[in-house]
Amino acid sequence: MKILQKGFNYSQDGPGNRLVYHLQGCNFRCKWCSNADSIPPSNPKSKDITIDDIFNEIMRCRMMFFDGGGVTFTGGEATLQHTELMPLLKRLKDAGINTCIETNGSVPTLKEIAEFVDYLIIDFKHFDNETHIFWTGHDNIQTKDNIGYFLNRGRFIHIRIPVINKVNVFPEEFAEFFGGFNTRNAVFEFLPYHEFGKDKWQGKYEITDGFVSPEIIERFEKAFTQRGLKTIKT
Ligand code: SF4
Repeated sequence: MKILQKGFNYSQDGPGNRLVYHLQGCNFRCKWCSNADSIPPSNPKSKDITIDDIFNEIMRCRMMFFDGGGVTFTGGEATLQHTELMPLLKRLKDAGINTCIETNGSVPTLKEIAEFVDYLIIDFKHFDNETHIFWTGHDNIQTKDNIGYFLNRGRFIHIRIPVINKVNVFPEEFAEFFGGFNTRNAVFEFLPYHEFGKDKWQGKYEITDGFVSPEIIERFEKAFTQRGLKTIKT
């Protein structure tokens, strides 16, 4: 697998203390991406590591997976490497390791991959397809299909919405969109815009006025809770 970086993180990439692998390559090009160096399919800084080596490394770290922790694969878009990711996840599940992926939800095989995932995080940027294409360089059709598939089967998913001024500050419309599904086992999180990864764009960063106030985040939380949708903060 092509890995850009790895490290431990507590609670933001799934429950507990987790070993997080950032996989190289993404099929989106979100204009606010904080990991822009993970977007190209290859990068001089990324390394090819066999799934045997990754599995053994994870097993050596298992004492660190406290508070319900485990391993998380994110990106880039981890599911683009599904031919290696899927057997690795299966081996980890068989070994009793808690598994998590964070994904943009755009890969059709996500439904199969998710069989081997304990904690599934799907990022959802915009409900309108044309607007989604403008800001991310990719449509939202498969992402919506996958989200609908999991929600309507009562599968637990954690849906993350990055909230960005002039891009997607539509709390009522987002809540209305998700209100059309069976959301009893879903949780929603709203991530206020930040610019932690701006330097990685090397002068090509296009967002100029993306910050949102705490009141905007509260509007999202209110719109969702009023419709019975569960919200969380990590
Ligand atoms: S989906 Fe994630 S990794 Fe890919 S471009 Fe968007 S923010 Fe970056």
